[in-house]
Formats: sequence, C-alpha cells, structure tokens
Amino acid sequence: MLPTQDDGVLSELASKEAEENMKASHGRITATLKDMDKELPFITGMNSEGIVHWGFKWGQAIVDAIGENCACINKCSHCCYQAVFISKAEATEIAKFTGREMADVGVPLIESIGLIEESREKYTTKPCPFLKDGSCSIYEVRPIACRVNINLSKQSSLCDTVNHPKASVPYAAIDGFHDNILMALGLMHPAEDIRGWFPE
Ligand code: SF4
Repeated sequence: MLPTQDDGVLSELASKEAEENMKASHGRITATLKDMDKELPFITGMNSEGIVHWGFKWGQAIVDAIGENCACINKCSHCCYQAVFISKAEATEIAKFTGREMADVGVPLIESIGLIEESREKYTTKPCPFLKDGSCSIYEVRPIACRVNINLSKQSSLCDTVNHPKASVPYAAIDGFHDNILMALGLMHPAEDIRGWFPE
C-alpha cells in the first residue's frame, strides 16, 4: 500500500494508464453502447422492475466490454466503502433476493441532489451492509451504480477511501448510462442510500 502523500503521483500514473486501457477497450465499448442504444426506446414502456433489470443487463455488458482493462477484477471491494445511492426499484430487487424487509424511506430523485452529497459525507469509509467477508453478497442484484463504478486503471488501491482518501480515480465516464435508467424510472421515483433502505 502506498502512503497517502503518494496519492497525487499514483493518480497521475493511473490517469495515463486509464487512457491506454480505454483505447484498448474502445471498439468493444462502442459496439456495446450501439447495441444498447437500439434497445433504449423500449425502456419507456417498461415498469420499474423491467427498467432495473434492463440496467443490470446493460451495466454488465459494459463491464464485460471493458474486460480486464480495469482494476475491478480479482474480487476487489474497495468501492464498497462508499455511499451507494439507489432507487427504490433496485432496493426492491435486493429485498426480493435477500428476503430482507426494506425501510419506508426515500426521497424523489428530483430532490435528492443534496442528499447524495450528505450520504457521501456520512458513508465514505463505511462498509456496505451487503459486503460479507470481502465479497458482495448480493452480486446478482447489486445496484447499477456498483456495476458501472469502474476504475479504468489497474490501481485498485486508488479506490481505497480509508488509506487513499485524496486519490483521484479514473472512473469510466458512463454516467449517461445511469442517468438514462434514473430518467426512465421518473423524477418522482424514491431514492436513498442502500444503508437507509436496509438499516442494520
Ligand atoms: S451492493 Fe455489493 S458491490 Fe455494491 S457496495 Fe454493496 S457490497 Fe459492494
């Protein structure tokens, strides 16, 4: 593990490496996004469960297209020590999968910007309640944010919020993907941090 004072140097190296990795995966990512775009119009007719499963499917397709050109392999769980703001539809899939009850929380997505920031402050460095023995215990239904939070360098330690709090992570710029899902769910759809939906 590199000491915190090296985070700047490490971040710079990772940024260069991410550019190379992006180039290496570019063809596959472009093809995947094109295929996804063809299906995009259909999500407007889906219910929230269908929209979330659509997001699961294409989120995984993006991960597969990036393949080994990222740090998110080898069961790394550094990003499970961050806020994970998720929609009620995703929490519902987790509740079905685990048999756990969901709390009656959540604010409309349109009002959630301030809360996302609050969640970051509250939960950065705190483990996700579904992280068990270093692995995601709900991998099949893990939130879309977890799927597309991809560190394009091979420096997984950059995502370690405890030991590298000042590191800058070269995440894949696929926010548009997540935004499409949220827009399809609707601005009044409730959202909350995963820990709020499933308090311990
Ligand atoms: S849901 Fe799984 S992948 Fe996402 S933060 Fe929690 S343990 Fe990690």
